[in-house]
Amino acid sequence: MSDITVVLGFDMETDVGSWSPYYEGIQDATPRLLNLLVQRDATATFFFTGDSARRFPHIVQDVDAEGHEVGCHSLYHETVGDPLFEIPGVEPLLPEEVPLRLQRATEWVAEALGSTPVSFRCPRLWASTAVLNALEDLGYVADASYPLYYYEERLAPYHPSRDDWTQVGDMRILEIPNFADMTVDSTDPYGRDRDQWPLFRTESAEALLEHIDAFAKYADDRGEPVVLCFYFHPWEFIDVPASYTYGEGTVVPDPFLVKNCGDYAFEQLGELMKGLAARGASFSTARDLAAEWD
Ligand SMILES: [Zn+2]
Repeated sequence: MSDITVVLGFDMETDVGSWSPYYEGIQDATPRLLNLLVQRDATATFFFTGDSARRFPHIVQDVDAEGHEVGCHSLYHETVGDPLFEIPGVEPLLPEEVPLRLQRATEWVAEALGSTPVSFRCPRLWASTAVLNALEDLGYVADASYPLYYYEERLAPYHPSRDDWTQVGDMRILEIPNFADMTVDSTDPYGRDRDQWPLFRTESAEALLEHIDAFAKYADDRGEPVVLCFYFHPWEFIDVPASYTYGEGTVVPDPFLVKNCGDYAFEQLGELMKGLAARGASFSTARDLAAEWD
């Protein structure tokens, strides 16, 4: 079995993604996550929305001071790329709006960080060719958006094409796929039941590690390097309510979004990191992976 490289990504956004306007997760869970990473001697990439970076610049600076990478996760967690399913009331940006929107997001994170972020992740992993072209033009070196469960093709990082971001081409930016267990017989129209997330908390670290072993073998059998790129969110490590009432109504997130959030999820994240270390995995930021890739 070849070496395992792990890219831990934390998407720093409003609680339960687009389903609330609150930032309890960022405020309460980030210090605990930073402690855990020190204990496990691991580095990670924290992708802040421009809005969260502007509201909590001290948290951006804490993450940076601990030696982790600060990346960007859009401006307000809007749909910047091609939506893979419908969300009521949320329409994607027009392609011509994308460059300015990503430029503003980059600037807001840079203002908090004191330097320009060079790694990006799209909200919901919904990227597009327009997004990748804009990121390339803004000087980004890595995008960690590709959902393997949906596109099913790229097992390992690649340089995308200017004409189709899901295909190999000659862009400088490195696209880092978020792994999925492709050995699972999918019964979901989008293949979401193959995805890594959020098994660590809806089931357990042990259950996810079984899928990780299956993916590693699957990639290795095909001569591909084993890169495990993860996406987590600070709100998964706080007690989230079953519903949110604000504005003109009440939002009840699907059970899988909120199941076992809080202490159980935090404990399982620690177990997952132990399991990865036991497999000899080395932890890298998205930026460092891009620098070392070629
Ligand atoms: Zn997100």
